Amino acid sequence: MHRRDTLTKAIVTVDLGKVRDNASRVVSHLPGIDVIAVTKVTCGSPEVGAAMLAGGAVALGESRLENVERLRAAGVTAPIWLLRAPTPDLAGEAVRLAEISLESELETVVALDRAGERQSRRHGVVAMVDLGDLREGMVPAHLPAFVAAVEPLRHLDLVGVGVNLTCYGAIVPDEDNLGRLAALGADVERLTGRPLRYLSGGNSGSIGMVICGRMPAAVNTLRIGETILLGVDTLTREPALDLHLDAITVSAPVIECQLKPSLPIGTSAQDAFGNRPAFADRGERRRAICALGRQDAPPEGLRPLDPRVRVLGASSDHLILDVEDLERPPALGESLAFVPNYAATLQLFTSPYVHKVFTPPA
Ligand SMILES: *Cc1c(COP(=O)(O)O)cnc(C)c1O
Repeated sequence: MHRRDTLTKAIVTVDLGKVRDNASRVVSHLPGIDVIAVTKVTCGSPEVGAAMLAGGAVALGESRLENVERLRAAGVTAPIWLLRAPTPDLAGEAVRLAEISLESELETVVALDRAGERQSRRHGVVAMVDLGDLREGMVPAHLPAFVAAVEPLRHLDLVGVGVNLTCYGAIVPDEDNLGRLAALGADVERLTGRPLRYLSGGNSGSIGMVICGRMPAAVNTLRIGETILLGVDTLTREPALDLHLDAITVSAPVIECQLKPSLPIGTSAQDAFGNRPAFADRGERRRAICALGRQDAPPEGLRPLDPRVRVLGASSDHLILDVEDLERPPALGESLAFVPNYAATLQLFTSPYVHKVFTPPA
């Protein structure tokens, strides 16, 4: 590794032991439910996927084919669910790389069937219904016709019915929408005359329904990313299930540390992003600048590990911090660490400027 990579770059550190621990705690809180662990926020990291599987996840979930390719190239042999439907022209890739995909368009499913025939490989389809969140999924009224059209296809198995909630419309999983999912699953079983392998009741946001005993019994799988990786309940972003909250951290080196007034001086216009910032006058304060910026992560999504440090803001490449309350000002080159939220995690993993480090399971 080039010396510059470790010395002056921002570094995301994934504690794989904590990821594995979180996965196993989530699995143990969800009896009777298969956990599909979702790696997409880490760009399909094989290390993270392996830790989730070691913690008891039965399969991995990914939204991008490039990420599935990365997992496969690293030797992951566990079943992979493709969470974002491919376009029909990518059906061949989907069948080659993933065992199961979430689908809502008949044209794509027909393309998957043809690809399955060409590759002599079977592919499982989970029919997605939209129960109010308004991201992917067909309206429930279209499900019977979809099932009737998919059943005769010879290289596909309709293996389940699923829903996604709390993503776009921020709709909370409850007895009403998940009860409707269970009823739709029963309808499909009546139509096909055989049991469905999977009734997939959503993402991290659906864990709470299981914990409080309100999850319909028929729901037997959840697709979980954020709660395993960040340890939070995604409906409130509060700590959940006594999980590790710092399995993923980011550190960035200090490049300047000086006493400055807390109010900018001069006539105020727009900042670099077109906002008109407001400032509180707290007098002269010691400020540090870290080599991390909006190009890497939104500063609102970074919580300093040391609660005496406050994030003031960021431009594209400079993270500005109030470090007045630290007993000893940080030295130049010393790194300060943060816990990123979901949006920041997503961007940090995607940024080519941020070095990624995986510490092996304890
Ligand atoms: C991203 C995604 C998930 C995982 O969501 P989390 O909130 O991270 O648990 C589950 N299902 C689908 C379809 C997704 O796209």
